[in-house]
Formats: sequence, C-alpha cells, structure tokens
Amino acid sequence: MHEVGIVTQALDMALEAAKKENAARITLMRMRIGDLAGVVPEALEFAFSVVTRETIAEGAKFEWDAVPVLCRCDRCQKDFTPDAMAYRCPDCGELATKILSGREIEVTEIEVETADE
Ligand SMILES: [Zn+2]
Repeated sequence: MHEVGIVTQALDMALEAAKKENAARITLMRMRIGDLAGVVPEALEFAFSVVTRETIAEGAKFEWDAVPVLCRCDRCQKDFTPDAMAYRCPDCGELATKILSGREIEVTEIEVETADE
C-alpha cells in the first residue's frame, strides 16, 4: 500500500523533530494533502495508526487538510481551480498546463509532550 510508505516517511520526520525537542510523546501529526496527490486520506490515517505502534507517536491524533488543485492559464495567466478533469481556463478556454498546487504531501504540524509535563 502506497500510503504506508508516505506515512512511514512522515513519521520519521516527526520522530526526528520530536527528538530535537526532547519530547516524550507525539500527540498529534497534521499533514497537507493535495487533491492530485493520489492518496486516500482515510487510508493514510489507518496507516498512521499502524506504523506508530510501539513508537512515541502511538495513539497520536492524525489530522489532514486538503489542498485544492490550482492551475494557471498559459494564455491569460489566470489562476483557477479546475472542475473535475477539465483543466480549461474559465475566462479564455485555453487548457492549463501549469499546475501550481494540489500535489502536496507534507507534514505541517506535530504536537508533542515533554517528559516533565
Ligand atoms: Zn485563460
């Protein structure tokens, strides 16, 4: 499953960040997931609950924000969110070839608890 690899990488980053802060536990991890990233957030959430077992992130909350697709029209430079699969500029009808966002898969936030809290 594709999602396990993504979450494993994200968790490695979170564990690294937690270590720098001397955290005893990770309580939350939040990601941004583009609509074009080709991942199912619910599957990520499930994968997260599996890969965090027996780590300091076990039981942490997994949250995510969807990033809508944003294209730029080649002709008039207008930025727009396309409908479904048609990447056509709503102003001039040109097909957009530049995709500005919508492919993100990134960790945006982690919350940790330090040992003396
Ligand atoms: Zn246009």
